[in-house]
Amino acid sequence: MFADLHLHTSFSDGTYTPEELVAHAHHHGLTTVALTDHDTVEGCTRMALACAQAELEFITGTELTTELKGQELHLLGYFIDAQNHRLLSQLASSQTVRQNRIREMVARLNRINIPLEADAVFAIANCRSPGRPHIGRALVQAGLCSSLDEAFERFLKKDRPAWVPKAKIPAVDAVQLIHQAGGLAAMAHPGLNRNDALIPELVEAGMDGLECFYSRHAPAQTEHYLRLAAQYGLLVTGGSDCHGMNKGEPLIGSIKLAYDYVDRLKRRLTQRRDSEAGATGCEVGVSAC
Ligand code: AMP
Ligand code: ZN
Ligand code: FE
Ligand code: FE
Repeated sequence: MFADLHLHTSFSDGTYTPEELVAHAHHHGLTTVALTDHDTVEGCTRMALACAQAELEFITGTELTTELKGQELHLLGYFIDAQNHRLLSQLASSQTVRQNRIREMVARLNRINIPLEADAVFAIANCRSPGRPHIGRALVQAGLCSSLDEAFERFLKKDRPAWVPKAKIPAVDAVQLIHQAGGLAAMAHPGLNRNDALIPELVEAGMDGLECFYSRHAPAQTEHYLRLAAQYGLLVTGGSDCHGMNKGEPLIGSIKLAYDYVDRLKRRLTQRRDSEAGATGCEVGVSAC
């Protein structure tokens, strides 16, 4: 049994619908998938249904945009309650930030005489959690760039003319947000962050896992993060970060996480829930609960 615990759909900046993504997962022999769209859980209902129909195991998830010491960090939340009020309210604010950022980035493009309209971006995004790839696609569709890569290189990358920094929630608060929604928190793609020095503070904050297996980690990086996970007592997660056709080729199938790692996540969750029930006197036989 194999898992991919990092996947995006058209509910954020992936190109596949949940149903298409599940069909690809099935084709690649995956048995368990987590949906981790950016700052949203909206796709989870459809993904869960599609997984049930294809007899795949589904894990509810999200990828929160956070920051620590001025650096953007992506935190994956797994096994979260997608109806949790605090989580939904935070996601709604993050989505508003994303929508306003799209308007600001388009205004910057207009200032350098690139005639793109924000509505064209929102029409392509067709979701509440739009991001830079949607602006890139709109630029390509309008014939203003020949590829998504060109759009990022010329306009959208950090410090390019349309770049606007994103307001982000503190990573320590995000760990707490995921926990209070009943989930586990893991740092996404540590090898892309290139700042291992942030890990101890997140461990201190209660972070549960590290995405050691990742499509863009070199083998030496995977080994390095497996060692760090062992050193800090962090659970090991892994995923492809497939965005469909966004990055040239779909990455699904590039990471097949051994199911033993999923079992360990579940055991940690059960332990935590048991200890929380114990702490509040909710164990079997205590009638006040
Ligand atoms: P945002 O969340 O709006 O800052 O956009 C970040 C997204 O843009 C992430 O999913 C990245 O993987 C994606 N991205 C970054 N660079 C590129 C690129 N050159 N081509 C396509 N997508 C990219
Ligand atoms: Zn993305
Ligand atoms: Fe990410
Ligand atoms: Fe991602």
